[in-house]
Amino acid sequence: MRLRKSDWSSYPKGLPIEALKGVGPSLSAKLSRIGINTAEDLLFHLPFRYEDRTTVSTIASVTAGSSYLLEGIISETKIIFGRRRSLLAFLEDNTGRIGLRFYYFSKSQQAKLDSKKKIRCYGEARKGASGLEIYHPEYANIDIDTSPNEHLTPIYPLTEGITQSRYRKIVAEALLYLKKVPIQNLINRKSGIDISEAIQYLHKPPPGANADLLMQGEHPAQKTLSLDELTAHQTYSRLIRDELKKLKAPGHSNPGSKYKKAIRSLGFKLTGAQSRVAKEISNDMMQKHPMLRLIQGDVGSGKTVLAALAAIHTHENGLQSAVMAPTELLAEQHFYTLSAWLEPLKIEVSLLTGNVKGKTRKIQIERIKDGKTNVIIGTHALFQREIIFQSLGIVIIDEQHRFGVHQRLALREKGAKKNFAPHQMIMTATPIPRTLSMGIYAEMDVSTIDELPPGRKPISTSVLSNDKRSEVIAKVDAACQSGRQAYWVCTLIAESEHLECEAAEKVAAELQDRLPKISIALVHGKLSSDAKAKIMDEFKKGSVDLLVSTTVIEVGVDVPNASLMIIENSERLGLAQLHQLRGRVGRGSNVSHCLLLYKQPLGELSRQRLTVMRESNDGFFIAERDLEIRGPGEIFGTKQSGEIRLKIADFLRDKEMLPEAREIAEKLLIEDRETAKILIRRWITNTEDVGLV
Ligand code: ADP
Ligand code: MG
Repeated sequence: MRLRKSDWSSYPKGLPIEALKGVGPSLSAKLSRIGINTAEDLLFHLPFRYEDRTTVSTIASVTAGSSYLLEGIISETKIIFGRRRSLLAFLEDNTGRIGLRFYYFSKSQQAKLDSKKKIRCYGEARKGASGLEIYHPEYANIDIDTSPNEHLTPIYPLTEGITQSRYRKIVAEALLYLKKVPIQNLINRKSGIDISEAIQYLHKPPPGANADLLMQGEHPAQKTLSLDELTAHQTYSRLIRDELKKLKAPGHSNPGSKYKKAIRSLGFKLTGAQSRVAKEISNDMMQKHPMLRLIQGDVGSGKTVLAALAAIHTHENGLQSAVMAPTELLAEQHFYTLSAWLEPLKIEVSLLTGNVKGKTRKIQIERIKDGKTNVIIGTHALFQREIIFQSLGIVIIDEQHRFGVHQRLALREKGAKKNFAPHQMIMTATPIPRTLSMGIYAEMDVSTIDELPPGRKPISTSVLSNDKRSEVIAKVDAACQSGRQAYWVCTLIAESEHLECEAAEKVAAELQDRLPKISIALVHGKLSSDAKAKIMDEFKKGSVDLLVSTTVIEVGVDVPNASLMIIENSERLGLAQLHQLRGRVGRGSNVSHCLLLYKQPLGELSRQRLTVMRESNDGFFIAERDLEIRGPGEIFGTKQSGEIRLKIADFLRDKEMLPEAREIAEKLLIEDRETAKILIRRWITNTEDVGLV
């Protein structure tokens, strides 16, 4: 087929993938599942790593745990009837022999691995039943004297049913077209190379390419495309922002008497940071377009009161507020806290989670629709269609990382009246370094609560091996007997919630057995919401001394008298989660302690994480260290933010490019919106649902 210049990215459809030789309907359906619909999509679906198959190794040099390109003669092939049937072929060269094991194999494969066949194969060696083995190597029968690949071999993120070699073949087709018809450069960049060259280079690195640079994502070809991608994300975010800002919002009057009364009756004085952020919020809500604000504040910095104030301000202007939490437990906690502040002001608060069922639910929904309920607290259930707000003025989302851009956009439709969109306020305790928030929250205004309420004493944290368990239990005993309260958190993250609950049950029973004088309660995800609420209430009132729980208490739980926390299997948790959990203590006037129990042997990364926890209470510092420890690719916060899937760029590794990307994006949106949209389409899938592109 003949191509014209515009065919690659001709908007909106582009060159269909079937136009490439070797792509039929079945393959095209599979590709579509990973977001590849056009030839351009194919080329922008880049390798995530490379394998060096340029040099053949000797079998004698193979050690377990590394990958090798090997070449030799099959000396023996047999079927092993073990617990699982497998095909075992032995490959020999002049230096030794190694087993190639296949658990899935066809007759024709078996034939290719017949004795005396000469093959070349690639794979990772491990210790197997016959000595060193390679499981499911990629292999090919070879004629004598063909040389191995000259190129590094790209490895792609693929889906079931598409093999690497099949994919490489279609990419090679697309690259042939690319030679004739280059892909357009859409942005003006200060440095970097031509975009078509970059693509060509990354799919087929020339002989002698610097493998280390490529593996680290630092090659100029990668940098070129990373800037392109980051610019696309910045452009997209700005476009969403423009779209939201185009909508109208009611434009509140100044905060009134209820607002002021609430502040007077809190029982504490707002910190400087809280007052500043409260003002930023109320100012936003007095504008005629919707607020779009992210409130960042470390665990315990007092974000809930800001939610309460925003809800009061909204109520004073005759509108409803919706408060959304990621878990039912947190929704319930917010319900109690907010009710205590708002009910005295004659503001009706209701709780609507998935657990509220039957008649109660019906009545609640009715009251929301009639506008009798002023503040509605819930989980994702609030997004459900059946729930119609009479006059929604603001959506407050706590711990936003579980809500995405799409969900936030969907809120437009829940708006107060026709043509009015609700304000949006998102609170997060996942501190993200400034440089990163520019990438991740580009469409939002950001407020930071950079001050903790006065009198907070730093939590002292110790890291203890499990064999100190008895001492730890004695500490819990002493603390509880002296009137303090404690959490004992059981974690089992890699396995099922069911197992986690079971483990917590066992621990609770064990502790009750060993601490007969202490009142112990257990809370986990399997309990009904009433049961959970009742237990939390008793813990809050102080009639329970020790709360054994799973990680359901991770976010939002607030019991200031609790000043001791034990976290079991802490070595398995990430820093973000540990910091969240630990934030449940250190909320009152007592000095709090956190004991991190771990099981031996402790891996190097776990050791580093636990050391960070012992040394710091500062969420921002911890976030930065988390980045360093985990390294690029696994970014603190971005994984949870769910939606942003970068194809080649990495917010951390490429953070120095963000300002440039933003600058280019802003210019592009002013000067050439059509090109901006093509750029977005190039890098971001699912833009259609948002209805923008
Ligand atoms: P987070 O930011 O983690 O959501 P919370 O809103 O749960 O924090 O607040 C933590 C605790 O601090 C709560 O008990 C809250 O009542 C209390 N608190 C909030 N602001 C202040 C303040 N300015 N002075 C004293 N205590 C405060
Ligand atoms: Mg909170």
